[in-house]
Amino acid sequence: MTLDRSEDPRLALAQARPIGEIADRLGVADLKRVTHSERAGPCPACGGRDRFALNTARGVFNCRGCGARGDGIALVRLVLGCDFPSALAFLEGERVEVDPAEIERRRRAAADRKRAQEEEAARYRAHAIGDARKIWQRSSPADGSPVMQYLAARSIRLPRAPDALRFLPDHPCVKKIGGRLETLHRGPCMIAGILDRSDRLVAVHQTWLDLSRPDLDFKAEIRSPSGERLPAKMVRGAKKGGAIRLGATGSSARALVAGEGIETTLSAMVVDPIGPANFWALVDLGNMSGIMLDRPGVRWSGEPDMSDSDAWVPPPWVDRLFFLRDGDSAPAMTSAKLRAGIERARASVPGLVGRIVDPGEGRDFNDILRGK
Ligand SMILES: [Zn+2]
Repeated sequence: MTLDRSEDPRLALAQARPIGEIADRLGVADLKRVTHSERAGPCPACGGRDRFALNTARGVFNCRGCGARGDGIALVRLVLGCDFPSALAFLEGERVEVDPAEIERRRRAAADRKRAQEEEAARYRAHAIGDARKIWQRSSPADGSPVMQYLAARSIRLPRAPDALRFLPDHPCVKKIGGRLETLHRGPCMIAGILDRSDRLVAVHQTWLDLSRPDLDFKAEIRSPSGERLPAKMVRGAKKGGAIRLGATGSSARALVAGEGIETTLSAMVVDPIGPANFWALVDLGNMSGIMLDRPGVRWSGEPDMSDSDAWVPPPWVDRLFFLRDGDSAPAMTSAKLRAGIERARASVPGLVGRIVDPGEGRDFNDILRGK
C-alpha cells in the first residue's frame, strides 16, 4: 500500500486528536498531573519514574531517558513499535473514502475542543492569579518582621526590606494530595511578589520560616501525610515570565543580576560583585531559560526556542545581564538552561551583553556570604 500523506484525510483527523486521549487508548499508565497541561510518569518505552512527559496543550510528548519525542502519531509508533501507516490505521482505521462533510464536522469538533481547553486553562490561570493577589493583600511589609530576622540568620543584612518581600504570621501551607486540599503546616511565612513584565502581580513565592531550625537553614519542617519531607517553599499563581524585583544598588543602574532563589540573589546584592546593578530573583531555572530547542541526539541544546512567547526576557533598559549559577547536582542541564536564557535575552534586547557568574565548587552566593 502506498500512502500519500498529503492526500490522506485521516492524517488531519489523527493530528486533531487530543494526545491525552491517545495515551489513554494506548494504556500509557501512571501519568500524574504536574501542571495544568502537563502529565509525567514512567516512559512506555524505557521505564523510569518520571522521565516521560505529556503536554496536552501542545499535543506533544518527550522522554528524558530514551529521547523519544513527538506528536500523537509518534506516540502510537513508540508504544506499539509500528510504522507510520500502521499508527494511522490504529488511530483512524484503514483508509477509506471519507465524506468531506464528515471531515469538516470532525475538524470543527477538534477546534471546539481546543478552544474549550484554552478557555479552561485561562480560567485556571485567572483563579491562581486571584489567589496570589489575595495572599499578597493579606500580608504586611517585611520591615521589623521575622522576615528580616530570617535574612539576618542567613547572613543577609539589609538596611531596609525590599518592597517585594512581605510577611504573614500564620499562613497555611496547602497542597493538593490525592485530589484533596490538605493543610500540611501553618506558621510565619515570607511572601515575595512576582511581577510580570507589565508590573502586574501574577504570583507569590511563599517560604515558611522557623528561626529555631539552623539545621534547615531556618525554614520550617513540612512533611506530607506519608512523612515525606517537602520543600518549605511554594509558588501560587502564574510565575512564568515573572520576576521578584528585590532592589538595586544604584538608582540608574542598567545592569541586571538575576538568580533563581531570593536568598542567593539577595546575597549577591550584599556581596555586590559588579558595582551598581538591579537584583531580581527569577524563581527557578526553567523560568531563567524558557523552552529550549530540540536538537536530535542532543539532550540539552542550550539554544532558546524563540517561539516560547511567555518566557522571561529582561526589560529593554538592561545593558548587561548576569545570571547567577547555583551549586547543583545536574551541572550539564544547568549550564544549558543558563546559556539558553542568556541567548534569549541577547536576541530580545539589542546590544545586551550577557554573562554567567559561577561562584564555583558547588557553592552559591549565600555560601560565600556565610563563609562556607
Ligand atoms: Zn523513554
